[in-house]
Amino acid sequence: MSAGKFGTVINCIDGRVQTPVNDYLKAAFGLDYVDTITEPGPNRLFSNNQDQTTIAAALEKVNISATKHGSKVLGIVGHYDCAANPANENEHIAQIRHAVGTLRSHIGDEMSILGLWVDEHWHVHRVSEA
Ligand SMILES: [Zn+2]
Repeated sequence: MSAGKFGTVINCIDGRVQTPVNDYLKAAFGLDYVDTITEPGPNRLFSNNQDQTTIAAALEKVNISATKHGSKVLGIVGHYDCAANPANENEHIAQIRHAVGTLRSHIGDEMSILGLWVDEHWHVHRVSEA
């Protein structure tokens, strides 16, 4: 097992959300490192459950983080002004909640799953948990 405490996030590719989400998870869970998987509009990807190939590839990356780095927490992100997912805030949050449910169905109970919304001020909010 690697030294240090790891968490995991499936974040958007958007460069504006990397640091806020990383800092939030480090502070909330006392993490040293956040393993980061990026997809454009990941809350939509995991809420509509249509692109099974991409979902499976992302889940395999989560599995590496969990098994090799001992991560016990996984974040899934939606954010303001997402180029890949031009939904309003309410739609984003609904997608985040669905995405948490999809992830819960694939990932063992040893890993907590958090739905995170990043608002227009780049502040991170926990909107769902499973
Ligand atoms: Zn985005």
